Order: sequence, then structure tokens, then C-alpha cells
Amino acid sequence: MRDEAPGPGDGDPSGPDGAGATADAGSDAAALAGLFAPERVAVVGATDREGSVGRAVTENLLAEFDGTVVPVNPSREEVLGLSCVDSVAEADADMAVVAVPPGDVVDVVRECGDSEVRNVVVLTAGFGETGAEGANREQQLRSVADEYGLNLVGPNSLGVMSSPRGLNATFGPDAPPAGGVSFMSQSGAFVTAVVDWAKGEGIGFKDVVSLGNKAVLDETDFVRAWGDDPDTDVVVGYLESIDDGRAFVDVAREATDDTPVTVVKSGRTDAGAQAASSHTGAIAGSDRAYEAGLDAAGVLRAESVQELFDSARALAGGDVPDSDGVAVVTNAGGPGVMATDAVGDAERLRLASFGDETVDRLGEALPDEANVYNPVDVIGDASVDRFREALDITLEDPDVGSVVVITAPTATLDFGELGEMIADAADEHGVPMAACLMGGKRLADAADVLRERGVPSYFDPARAVGGLKSLAEYREVRGRSYPEPEPVDADRERVREILSSVTGRSDNRLGVEAMEIFDAYGVPTPEGAVVDDPVEAERVAEGIGEEVVMKIVSPDILHKSDIGGVKVGVPVAEVADAYEDLVSRARNYQPDATILGVQVQELIDLDDGVETIVGSHTDPQFGPLVMFGLGGVFVEIMEDTTFRLAPVGRDEAAEMTEEIDAAPLLRGARGREAVDIDAVVDAVRRVSQLVADFPSIVELDVNPLVATPDGVRAVDLRLTVDPEKLETQS
Ligand code: ADP
Ligand code: MG
Repeated sequence: MRDEAPGPGDGDPSGPDGAGATADAGSDAAALAGLFAPERVAVVGATDREGSVGRAVTENLLAEFDGTVVPVNPSREEVLGLSCVDSVAEADADMAVVAVPPGDVVDVVRECGDSEVRNVVVLTAGFGETGAEGANREQQLRSVADEYGLNLVGPNSLGVMSSPRGLNATFGPDAPPAGGVSFMSQSGAFVTAVVDWAKGEGIGFKDVVSLGNKAVLDETDFVRAWGDDPDTDVVVGYLESIDDGRAFVDVAREATDDTPVTVVKSGRTDAGAQAASSHTGAIAGSDRAYEAGLDAAGVLRAESVQELFDSARALAGGDVPDSDGVAVVTNAGGPGVMATDAVGDAERLRLASFGDETVDRLGEALPDEANVYNPVDVIGDASVDRFREALDITLEDPDVGSVVVITAPTATLDFGELGEMIADAADEHGVPMAACLMGGKRLADAADVLRERGVPSYFDPARAVGGLKSLAEYREVRGRSYPEPEPVDADRERVREILSSVTGRSDNRLGVEAMEIFDAYGVPTPEGAVVDDPVEAERVAEGIGEEVVMKIVSPDILHKSDIGGVKVGVPVAEVADAYEDLVSRARNYQPDATILGVQVQELIDLDDGVETIVGSHTDPQFGPLVMFGLGGVFVEIMEDTTFRLAPVGRDEAAEMTEEIDAAPLLRGARGREAVDIDAVVDAVRRVSQLVADFPSIVELDVNPLVATPDGVRAVDLRLTVDPEKLETQS
């Protein structure tokens, strides 16, 4: 048995100890450093065979790595001129790259654990991605890695790379240029594509990891590690899933305090929403959850690969703007207008408004035909010096947070010189700059200089502005604090009882019969009661007012008004007849429907009110989300909604009310009085706390929550309880 071979753990007082090792491989950020800066790398499954993974990874390691490479293969004497050892235990390595057949991987990884090899990269495929047998193998792999506390990447990974040590432990074709971008990708093909493409784009990498199946280490572990890594300027991710959304949020919030993180998340369309039985569930696809989750995490989201790396390039510069004001300095009118439009379209950016001094100085420095207001047009015949003067003056304006410098090919400029000038100005002023080189061959010298000197440059003005937009977004992230939501006083015991009422029922939905939940959480409701005979209905109505609202109460009727189950403005004298009518409508609709009775409710004057919706949906990765939007019966048609992770505090709830398209409606439009926003905000945060407190509420709609100048009233409720989660909740 190879286990008896002497290993590096021998003589270590802490002991070569498997079973006693702490299992949480990912929890220690510094521990991952060994994955990117090992001393001795064992390649288990190294071989000379052309076209094999074992050969490709050995060759890549031999190319630049400044440590030692030890091939492991019991059936060979040597590989690529290096002498082989028979087992990983004999390699005395601190990292192992595993490229053996799938059936042998678990044993090899156990051997790594036994011989104190902490860092393991499993290239072998044929695990969770291939069906039940593979999934089982992956489970075994995970438990062995946990037992020994291994930093395990993969399986089914292309490998890892790290430029400071020249480490290329992948079977891809090339190593990336060096730089400050650390990149993780859930797709190996994407790694090879990006590395190849980056060469021409002036993007350099610190660490690159192909995450593979993420059996052990996942996106959260790498965000944590790179957040602490002084050599990583920006973290970039291509992700298909985030496994534990809440853990990711916690870790990313800390990392993004000084390291920007930007990701593209693929798989945006989502079929899961169709099964939902609430408005909120129907609108909340997993993409809305990722949107809310990434935003909560302070992670920037790119819509395309191009945007991802445009953003990375801008962020890698390290300067964060002091203001959202953008100046445009151009020698060409049209592109200047395009850049100006793009600034207008970007949510966080605005055109900087120059102070008088700036305008005066520009007037003195530039010819009469020039434009001295933003966008600054230095005119087609501008020399490098004139350009520089205009830039210096602009960069000194206090409202200018970042600058787009645009040039088209002109006969008067030396573009190598122009590139140097732009880079000098960027260095001297410490203000982020994006260059827009609107040309090809003629501008190539400028492009080369800027690439070398780390100033992002783009052909398209909109892309240049896109880079600055990422900087503005990151500026917002850096300025954040994440306060705990204010506590909500609530009668939790009462809610627990109401939710438990579904136990043993065939249906897990509750409707207006559960409105008492609102009382328990301090959300105002109209006066009213659920009754089960016409006489009682009349009695309740008399106590309320001259006219009331009546609604059928049945777990089998989801949308009451769709079947004529809501009567608004019923005079007291007609209440008894209305009762009978509602019941018979329900019977006609579904003869065997369970009818719990009729709700008699105070009539709210909607003339000066707005119907809003507050909802919740539990996402498998990110947990409970809270939604706010324009409510009423057309919610899904309007889809004017916004999501957050629940619970939210007052500030976040207030942001939600500002974010929807209908926000001006709430704040009073066209002579209408504004609604009581504070009451809306309070209701949103209370509902968000309710769903956070009770994981058994998997879906919930408060639709409408009627907002008026005098306050809010929750007039309708629908929620779905997961009976299996009833037991475990607080
Ligand atoms: P459902 O959503 O099941 O159809 P609701 O209780 O939401 O039933 O009622 C449908 C619509 O009736 C509401 O969107 C609102 O326009 C109106 N409505 C319901 N209750 C009241 C009320 N108490 N006062 C005024 N209008 C109401
Ligand atoms: Mg409703």
C-alpha cells in the first residue's frame, strides 16, 4: 500500500491526521493561497500520450511555473523527460492536479488527504454532470474532501492558473497575460475563450479558476479569497448558478468593500415560475432572485461577455470616481453626441456641469469655434497640446468624476503621442478615464500605448461610457453600509397558529380568512369579518357603514373577482341578497368548492388611493424575496415591480417605492395628493419581516395594499404554506 510511504506530514507534531481535521475547506481565505502559489505540484495521471489531458497539463506546468512539477504514474518511468513517482504520497507535493479515470479519483484524493496535500484540482469529468452514478461519485469525493479539509477545485474543471508564479495547471491551450483581474468560470470552454481573446484586448489576469462542478470550492470561496488578495484588483465571474445565495451575499458584501466584483450570470430564462399560484410567484423567476441577490451582495452584473470585460477593464484601473458627473472631451462632433446620449441613458451617470471657472479657462484655451461646455469639442484640427490643455482644465472641475476622451482619425495628430498624453493625464489627475478611439489602423499606436499603460480604450462611445457606468456603480457599492433592518414588534405566536391551520388539509393556501396575520404584524387592514350566514353578514355591515365590500372566501377560488366573487359598494339593505348571490356564483364556478363564507369589509375610497402589491416568494438559492409594485388585478400585465431579499429595513423599503415606474403616482401626480409613503414603507418592511420569520410561507400576495394620503390598508391576502416547514420555524 502506498499509504505507508513516508509523507511530508511525518514528524509534524500536529500529526498527519485525517479524521480529526476540521472539515470546512472553504472557510479560511488564506488557505486558498496555496492553490495559486504551490511549491511542488504533483500531476496524478501524467503521461506522454499525445492529445491527453495528462500530457497537456504537464506541458502547461512545465512552460512557466517557477516551482517543481512531479509526474505521478505507476506505469511509467518518466513523462516529458521528468522521472515519475508511483503515487501522490511519494511526490512530497503541496498541490495535486488529478487527471486519472473517474473511477480512480476518489482513491487518489483520499491519498492526497493522507499525505497532507491540501490543494487538489480535479480535472477528470464523469461526475455530477453525467447522471446518477456520477452524482454518487461526486458525493463521495465531497465527503473525502470534507474529511481532510481539502481545498478541492472541480471535478470536471479545466484547472487553475496564476500569473505571479507562472502557474498554468490547466489543460487549456494558453496561459493568460499577467494583470490584476482574477477570473472564475463555471464553464471551462469559457476560460480558454477568454484567455485567448484577452491577449488582444489588454486584459491581464492574476488568478483564473475553472470551477467545474463545484463539489467543494465554489464562487463564494473565491470571492472571499480574492477579496483579501492585494494582487487582485477586480474579480470577474462567469456563473451559471450560485449555490448558497445568502452565504454569497454575506461574503461578497465584505469583499466588495475594496475589491469590485462583476459577474455575468447565464441561464436567464426560467420555466419554474409557471407553477406559481400567486402574482408574486408568477413574476419572480429565478432571474429576479439573482438580480436582487447580486444587488444585495454589491456585485455588479453584466448583461454580456463584452460588458463583463469592458467593466473589468474600467474597474482594474483602481481609481473610483468622486462624482457621478462625466465629462466628454472630443475632437469629433458626432461621437461626442453619442457619448453624451449614452451618459444620459446610464442610470447612475449624468453629464457633469462645469463651473464658471472651467468654462472661462476653456474659452481662453480653445479656438472660438470650439465648444467649451460639456461635451467639450476641441475641433478636428486639435493638436495633442490643445487636447491636453482641454483635458487638464476639465479634469480639475470638481463636478467631473470621470472622463470620456474621444478621437477620430485626423491628419494633425500623432496617435502614439496622443495615447501617451491621455495616459499621463489619467495618471496625474487620478480621475478615471475611458478612451474612445473611433478608428482602426490609424489609431493603432494610441491603442497600443493605452493598453500598455492600463487606460481602457474602446471603439464605440457607448462601450466607453459603459466602462464608466461600472465605475459609478462600484462607487455606489463602496459608499454603502448594510444596516440590520429595524426590528418589527409582532405577535408571532398568533401567526404560527394561523399558519398551522393548514395542517391535515388537502390545500395549503390561505386567503382573507387569515387576515389576522396582518394585525399580528402591525399592517393596517379595513374593518371587517368573515361570516357564514346572510343575517350575520348584514349585522357586520351595519357596524361598518352605509356601503360595504363583500368577497367570497374559498381556498378553491384564487382570483375572486375573476368569477364575480367581489362586490364593491353594496348598500346594507342588499347585503343579505349579495351573500346568497356570491355563494351561488362560487357554486356555479365549481360545484364542489369548499366555501368558508363571505367577507364583509369596509369600503375604501380608491379615488385618491393607489392599489399597490406587496408580495413574497421563496427562491431556492436566495431564500425569501419581498416584492413591491403597482397592484390590482392587472399586476402581471403591468409587471411594474421590484424585488429585494427579505427582510428589508426602512431605507431599502423606501428605495423600492422609488424604483418602480409608477413611483410618481405615489408621490402625487397631475394634481393628485401624494399617498402616505411612510405607511407604505412600514407595510413593506413588516411583510418582509413576516416572511423572513416564517419560512413556511413560500408565497404571499398582499394585493392590493391600498395606499391613500391617510395611510395604507391591506384589503386582500393570499399565501401558500409549506406544511413540511411548519415544524422547524422559530
Ligand atoms: P381578488 O384579488 O381575489 O380578485 P380582491 O380582494 O383583491 O380580490 O378585490 C379585487 C379588487 O376589488 C381590488 O383590486 C380592489 O380594486 C377592489 N376592492 C377589494 N376590496 C376593496 C375594498 N375594501 N375597498 C375598495 N375596493 C376594494
Ligand atoms: Mg387581490
